Amino acid sequence: MEDLYQYDQEYRDSIATVDAAGNRVWVYPKKPKGRLHNLRILVTVVLLGLLFSGPFIKINGQPLLLLNILQRKFIILGQVFWPQDFVLFGLAMITFFVFIILFTTAFGRIWCGWACPQTLFMEMVFRKIEYLIEGDANQKRKLDIAPWTTEKVVKKLSKHLIFMAISLLISHLLMAYLIGVEQVKQLVLAGPGAELTGFFGLLLFTSVFYGVFAYFREQACTVVCPYGRLQSVLLNKESIVVAYDWLRGEPRNKLRKQSLTDDQGDCIDCKLCVHACPTGIDIRNGTQLECVNCTACIDACNQVMEKVQRPQGLIRFDSYNGIEGGKPLKFTARLAGYSVILVALVGLLTYLLVSRSDVETTVLRVPGQLFQKTVDGNISNLYNIQVINKTFNVISLYIKVMDQPEAKIYRVGEPSLLVPANGMVESVYFVELPAIQIVKAKTPILLGIFSENTMIEKVKTNFLGPVKR
Ligand code: SF4
Ligand code: SF4
Repeated sequence: MEDLYQYDQEYRDSIATVDAAGNRVWVYPKKPKGRLHNLRILVTVVLLGLLFSGPFIKINGQPLLLLNILQRKFIILGQVFWPQDFVLFGLAMITFFVFIILFTTAFGRIWCGWACPQTLFMEMVFRKIEYLIEGDANQKRKLDIAPWTTEKVVKKLSKHLIFMAISLLISHLLMAYLIGVEQVKQLVLAGPGAELTGFFGLLLFTSVFYGVFAYFREQACTVVCPYGRLQSVLLNKESIVVAYDWLRGEPRNKLRKQSLTDDQGDCIDCKLCVHACPTGIDIRNGTQLECVNCTACIDACNQVMEKVQRPQGLIRFDSYNGIEGGKPLKFTARLAGYSVILVALVGLLTYLLVSRSDVETTVLRVPGQLFQKTVDGNISNLYNIQVINKTFNVISLYIKVMDQPEAKIYRVGEPSLLVPANGMVESVYFVELPAIQIVKAKTPILLGIFSENTMIEKVKTNFLGPVKR
C-alpha cells in the first residue's frame, strides 16, 4: 500500500496482536455502542436469520442451498448441479472474485465488518456473551489476571459452556448445508453410536468453531483470511474505507477542552478509537490490513467529538482523496475495466444457466474394444453411455443415431433407459453400421438422446471400423 500519511510507518512492520518476542497480545476491545453499532445489530439479525433459516427454505421441494461435497451433489436456488457442471461452477467463482475485486476497490473491506459470518459470530454473538458474563474490557482484563476464585471459575466455566453450545449449533448448521437438514435430524435422532462418521464430523466442526471463537478470534481475519491481504493490491486513493481525517485531527491536542487554539487538531488523543478496535490497531496510523471496517472506532470517536463539541466524522467512511478535499469516489479506468469484465461474465453465466440441459450424457468407447464384425456383415462398436438426470423427476430415455439412417443402436435388456430423479445411470450400448458405409478408420457419428419423442441432447462420438485399402 502506498505511503498514505506523513507519519511514522514503522507500525506496518508488525501486527498489533503479536509482541516483539512473537507472543500473542490478547485484544480487550471496549464494548461498542453508537449509531453504526445499532445498525450493525440490525444487519446481523437479518443476516444470521437468513443463515439459520437457509436449510429450512425449499424451492419446489428442494433446498435453497446444499453443498454435498461427499456425494458431489450441489443444489443452488433449488437447481441441482453435478461435477459435470464444473465449467459453470468455475465461471461462477471467477464472476464472484471479479465482483469482490470491484466491490473492494470501490468500498474497501466493508464485507468483513458487516457481513462475513466470522465477524458476525465473533463480534455480535460470542463477544456479546463475553461482555455479559465477564464485563467490559477493563473488567475482563482484571478477571483474566485475578487468582482463581469461585466467582472466576463460575464465570469462565459458564462462558465456555455457552461458547461450546453455540459452536455445536453452528456445526449442525454447517452440516445442514452440507448434507441437508433431514439427514442432520436423522443423525441427531439416531445418536452418536449409530452414525460414527457424522458424529465425528460434528465433533470436529464444533471443536474448530469453539477454538476460533474462544481463542483464535481476530487472528482468523488478520493472519489466515487471504481477503485482508488482497487490500494492499486492490485499494487505491479513491477507495472508500474507514479512515481518520488526519488534516482535521492533527496535530493531536490532549488538552482540547482547555486550549481551543486554532493551530491544534481535533483529535484529543483519548485513544478511545484504539480501545474500541477488535483487531487492536490504531486507525490514526492509516489504512492497515488488520482493519475489518467494523466501524467501532467511528462510533467511539463520534461520541468523543460530541463531548468536546466538535463536528462528528473525524474517523469516517471516506477515501484518501476525499480527506484531501477531492471527490470521495471516482469511476476510475480500473473500476470501468472491472465493471466491463463483470458484466461480460454475468452475461455468459446467465446464458449458460438458461441454456443448461436437464440431462448430461457422456459417451465413451468401452476400453480395450476396437470393433467387431457381425454375422450379417455389419461392423459393431461398443459404448459406455452415462446419463445424469439433473431434474427431480424420473426420465425414460432412448437413443438414436442421427446421421446414419442405416445404423442400429441397442442395448442388452430394455431398449429405453430409466434415469432416476437427480441420479445417474450407466449402460453399455451396441452401435452397428453396414460395413459398406465405413470408408475410414474413424467415422464421426451423432447420437440423439430422446425423451417422449423430444430430442433433449446431442452427443458426437467416433465409430471405429476396418481401414479400406
Ligand atoms: S480500525 Fe476501526 S473499523 Fe478498523 S477494525 Fe479497528 S475499529 Fe474496526
Ligand atoms: S477517538 Fe477520536 S479523538 Fe480520541 S484518539 Fe481516536 S481519533 Fe482521536
